[in-house]
Amino acid sequence: MIRGLRELSDLDPASLDGQRVLVRLDLNAPLSHGQIADDTRLRAALPVIRTLQDAGARTILCSHLGRPKGRRVQGLSLMPVGVRLAELLQTELHFHDDTVGDDVEYLTREIPKGGVLLIENLRFHPGEKANDPGFAAQLGKLGDIYVNDAFGVLHRSHASVAGLIQHFDLACCGPLVAREIRALDRLLDGPERPYVGILGGAKVSDKIAVLESLMNRVDSLLIGGAMAYTFLRAQGIEVGDSLVEEDRLLLAQRLLERCSAKGVNVFLPTDHVVSDSPQGDVQVLKEIPAGLKGFDVGPGSVGRFSDVIARSSTIFWNGPMGMFEVEAFAGATRGVAEAVAAAEAYTVVGGGDSAAAVNQLGMAEKISHISTGGGAALEFVQGTDLPGLAALRTKGG
Ligand code: ADP
Ligand code: MG
Repeated sequence: MIRGLRELSDLDPASLDGQRVLVRLDLNAPLSHGQIADDTRLRAALPVIRTLQDAGARTILCSHLGRPKGRRVQGLSLMPVGVRLAELLQTELHFHDDTVGDDVEYLTREIPKGGVLLIENLRFHPGEKANDPGFAAQLGKLGDIYVNDAFGVLHRSHASVAGLIQHFDLACCGPLVAREIRALDRLLDGPERPYVGILGGAKVSDKIAVLESLMNRVDSLLIGGAMAYTFLRAQGIEVGDSLVEEDRLLLAQRLLERCSAKGVNVFLPTDHVVSDSPQGDVQVLKEIPAGLKGFDVGPGSVGRFSDVIARSSTIFWNGPMGMFEVEAFAGATRGVAEAVAAAEAYTVVGGGDSAAAVNQLGMAEKISHISTGGGAALEFVQGTDLPGLAALRTKGG
């Protein structure tokens, strides 16, 4: 039990024997030329499937893949995912090329105990994203028990996450979701201090909500990435041609004032890796003249950030410090990742690009928790009640 949620591990395995268990997974693996380019998410789904197989359940797996926009797109079929999953599980896996309907329902009853059925991409149906009650009811016919082990979609009010719940008597979260919630809960529930928030990435507008809620929780805030330039500009500092969200300048100013009123220390970069374009010649400057843009936090600022990080006990990091995809601008993200990895603190990294950066730099093992869900992790850390968790909670603990 966590936060009023029942976990799959709370159920007696004997109670699963012969039951049809509908499992919402995140099998949204990156594809390249119809092949699975990275099977991390498939591997992550294996524990819940094996648990159900061992208990003799009839397991029905559902997931979205890509953005088919409510219609059948051949290149976004879950079929290749099923083939790879079967290899990883080393079992036979049944596949149905539709998601709902009488045939699918029939098959859910026909698969043997311990068998696994994968149904077609949920987002081939417009009802999935629209949280259509009719589509949710059809999903409800596919199982006796519902398990959600797709952390990355818990912030979505979709049919397979929220709408279907009323059609199940018994629902619980799977091991991946339980692990994420345990890890992220430590940031909400009395985090050890000092608590430092590190924010970066491209756009202030994307991160305003995180910023506003983090400033109520943290002792210090380190701001890097392109969003730093809007904050610097709001303080009247010249940032040349760096990315500035002009329509957010007042807001940035107000956020800084509120941080100062609350006693939150805000650290902004004081030197920058600049160029006229991502491919151009690179120099490190304290002031950015017109014609040049900041693409990364400078080494002096990384040093200051690292000192704050080293003295912290809890760290939440979202958003790369610079345009890390280009090697010349990866230095600050690497430096901050090294500092976070070395800190004797509880460290959490959330966000698609941030997690990718940490993995790419080979630092993943030195981070306490890397969240698999970008948007879901950010909303959770802000203290938002995620629709998927709210739905599960209606089924009690
Ligand atoms: P996350 O996915 O971790 O939440 P974001 O999507 O907000 O992170 O931001 C990541 C993007 O921000 C990356 O593509 C990176 O290149 C870009 N970025 C960071 N700093 C800069 C900068 N100074 N100029 C341009 N782009 C930047
Ligand atoms: Mg991103």
